[in-house]
Amino acid sequence: MSADRTAAPAAGQWVFHNGDFILAAEVRLGPSLQALQYGTGVFEGIRSYAAGPDSAHLYRARDHFARMIGSARILRIAVHHSAAELVEIAAELLRRNGHTGDAYLRPLAYKAALEPGVPFGVRLQGVSSALTMVSLPMSSYMSKEGISCGVSSWRRIPDSSLPARAKITGAYANNALASDEATAAGYDDAIFLNQAGHVAEASTSNIFLVRAGRVITPSHDSDILEGITRDSVISLLRRKGGIEVEQRTVLRSELCTADEMFLTGTGCEIVPVVALDGRPVGSGTPGPVTRTVMDAYDQSVRSRDPHDHPGWLTPVHAIPVHH
Ligand code: PMP
Repeated sequence: MSADRTAAPAAGQWVFHNGDFILAAEVRLGPSLQALQYGTGVFEGIRSYAAGPDSAHLYRARDHFARMIGSARILRIAVHHSAAELVEIAAELLRRNGHTGDAYLRPLAYKAALEPGVPFGVRLQGVSSALTMVSLPMSSYMSKEGISCGVSSWRRIPDSSLPARAKITGAYANNALASDEATAAGYDDAIFLNQAGHVAEASTSNIFLVRAGRVITPSHDSDILEGITRDSVISLLRRKGGIEVEQRTVLRSELCTADEMFLTGTGCEIVPVVALDGRPVGSGTPGPVTRTVMDAYDQSVRSRDPHDHPGWLTPVHAIPVHH
């Protein structure tokens, strides 16, 4: 993993906060913030990629914002912008922060303050909604040579308790438990099983297996986040390789017998899994399907493919560099 994964925007960076672009140092959030108390926020992680000396493009930003609006609906968080407007705001934020290199956007919509007269307590109604978006420089940070994973003893939250398909801030305590357990045991990441004991996803990415030439990923009813990178991979394999990914229940034993395994996510992009629970996956090195997917995804995000899906890239032109 490389170094440039900054934790927070510098004080002099712009953020979009409740309808205005302001400096990060000027954001004031109180200790009674409902999202802080109860984890009632929803968020996204979106990447932009350098596309020339002073321009960049956002990758599938509209899809990310559409997913955020869906997540917000589950928690009754009001988002006062359409997905298209949020894409424009994101582009303006990148321009203001002069992010000509690869960058990462983190929009967060959340429950803020109790409305006047509403009693203190856990609730979704009677609480105002807020929206904050930050951007950070971020290039690829995962090893292209592959990582090791361990199956977590923590199970993925079921849809009947807290839907994994929504990117809810509080729900990420579940992900944090799994990733913490994995790193404490010396693995790079965790693989979650769901309550039924079937494969769900990794701590912050979706999982794909290759077995006997077939590409398989857990279906949407496996308690997973409906990953946008997962969707890109399914579409790229169909379009480029004529391969139809099987989306279905995946048994734990299939992990042990996979020829190849890889994770997909906006942050990690495509990362080979070369060892699971201390056993090599296949040959113990990234396999041919994984390498094909890595190349196809790289071309897709960096727009070297003229046939790419038209709606996936949003140009962010003429980024002025602020100092
Ligand atoms: N699953 C989880 C739990 C995640 O946090 C992420 C990262 N957003 C993903 C899957 C991958 O989703 P995407 O490809 O949309 O980034």
